[in-house]
Amino acid sequence: MTATVIDGKAFAATVREKVVNHVARLKADHDLTPGLAVVLVGEDPASQVYVRSKGKMTVEVGMNSFEHKLDVDTSEADLLKVIADLNADPTVHGILVQLPLPDHLDSDLVINSIDPAKDVDGFHISNVGLLGTGQKSMVPCTPLGCLMMLRDHHGSISGMNAVVVGRSNIVGKPMAQLLLNDSCTVTIAHSRTQDLPGVVKQADIVVAAVGRAEMIPGDWIKEGATVIDVGINRVDAGLKDDGTPKTRLVGDVHYDSCAAVAGAITPVPGGVGPMTIACLLANTVTACSRAAGLPEPEGLTA
Ligand code: NDP
Repeated sequence: MTATVIDGKAFAATVREKVVNHVARLKADHDLTPGLAVVLVGEDPASQVYVRSKGKMTVEVGMNSFEHKLDVDTSEADLLKVIADLNADPTVHGILVQLPLPDHLDSDLVINSIDPAKDVDGFHISNVGLLGTGQKSMVPCTPLGCLMMLRDHHGSISGMNAVVVGRSNIVGKPMAQLLLNDSCTVTIAHSRTQDLPGVVKQADIVVAAVGRAEMIPGDWIKEGATVIDVGINRVDAGLKDDGTPKTRLVGDVHYDSCAAVAGAITPVPGGVGPMTIACLLANTVTACSRAAGLPEPEGLTA
């Protein structure tokens, strides 16, 4: 079997188009422009790139983007004050604090100081609890993107066996919860799981969120399963013509061997990655609609 490639880049474009249409309606009918505030503490180069690209995409879909760049040694009190001001600002509908924060700042405390209704990353404990009890919440962007692709590919995933490899708070656990909410039978595997190949082999849906390059080979995959690869790992790829080292991105699954047995698979790059930022925009337009007591955008929520 050769797997169908689930094209996250193309799917993310359709999500962004829905966001654009909903933003246009909010503007035209309600004189309302959704706004996303991103808070960056320090000068971590990767975080700076993420924040820049989030700001650019926010503006491209017609929303307001507010960037707050704070000094690396900003005190916790000062950061909490910035968040309190954003919580109180009616033009800001979504707040994202770029992680990781410098060591002297308590990430849990900071995240839990965001108004849960504006917590577009879905990391606030209130949103975790709401998701866990099947109530309306803000859902973390990466798992939301994976869920959207699974629903789009399968229609219904009810009753399917899903194995999530990885139990982080930002990917593995919320992913498992979303799959459970959609009536999958869910197993969460992690570094202490016994017979991981045997566990993965049972899965109709495998979501790999481990952070280990190409760890899952094709012979762990059940024939015809759907493989969602969340991993983003940079590995050596020899030398450029000028003799300097080259790198490339790979996922947590070994793409070629998995694609040979899977029914469908997301590539890296071009799979889950583009969906994550599209879902951030989707969450912001959802937060704005909810704040105004208006209907939520269709197809952009869990
Ligand atoms: P974490 O490091 O927080 O979690 C990794 C998880 O994998 C842990 O639960 C760990 O288990 C488990 N694990 C580690 N080694 C093994 C192993 N040998 N066998 C089984 N399980 C193992 O990572 P994240 O969840 O934050 O991210 C996972 C990957 O997804 C990374 O590559 C990251 O870059 C990528 N990512 C991609 C995003 C996107 O937009 N595409 C967004 C977010 C993340 P244990 O708990 O027992 O230690």
